[in-house]
Amino acid sequence: MTETVRQTGDALGARLDEIRGRIAECARRAGRVPEDVTLIAVSKTHAAEAVQSALAAGVADFGENRVQEAEGKIETIGRAVGTGGASAPRWHLIGHLQSNKARRAVKLFDVIHTIDSAELIERLERACAEDGRAELPVLLQVDLAGETSKAGATVDALPELIERAAVCKHVRLAGLMTLPPFYEEAEQVRPFFRRLRELRDEWQGRGAFGEGRGELSMGMSHDFELAIAEGATMVRVGTAIFGARPAR
Ligand SMILES: *Cc1c(COP(=O)(O)O)cnc(C)c1O
Repeated sequence: MTETVRQTGDALGARLDEIRGRIAECARRAGRVPEDVTLIAVSKTHAAEAVQSALAAGVADFGENRVQEAEGKIETIGRAVGTGGASAPRWHLIGHLQSNKARRAVKLFDVIHTIDSAELIERLERACAEDGRAELPVLLQVDLAGETSKAGATVDALPELIERAAVCKHVRLAGLMTLPPFYEEAEQVRPFFRRLRELRDEWQGRGAFGEGRGELSMGMSHDFELAIAEGATMVRVGTAIFGARPAR
């Protein structure tokens, strides 16, 4: 390791320790255990070296928002598919997925958080069958703000999507995800997190997530503590781990 890589790794390790401490503290305050919450390190725009440093610091889950960008990184770093490769991480797709990239996404990602159409479910199901992939856990992305410009399914669309997923052999509905509007005041996102948890509880009661607990993927660098207080089981943290991203 070069001196620069090691120093970068040390700083990253310190930030990770701090974030893990906050996650644990919030979980306990909410009457939960720290292990309830999976930290997904969002590595989009950052090079494979940054992923390697985080991996060395014990991160097991990474989030990427573009298939194209993730491809090279996942090839370099590897993937903990099934029980093999204990030292390799799981990869989560957290950005919008175009139907025509479903096949590539099935080859690359362990979990897809951004399902928002029946067509996408069909495409992924077919790609799994063709690729010999037994199971693909997915989350439905719910647009709770009614921002039609944004990705995500409306609450009204959920019954149809959940029904579609229920008849799939390979696509397995594992939970819900949301990306609330940005507020300067983090506290303002609380109602969105709460609403997603209520929806999860409601659909869990109807068996939408099978034997699973119904994952709640919500919370980012500036609001993950609130999200955990409201029940998040997966937080997607980028900037607080890797530093600011270059402007696109
Ligand atoms: C980029 C991104 C994140 C991480 O955001 P930070 O503010 O850097 O923590 C989380 N979720 C999604 C969907 C993202 O695109």
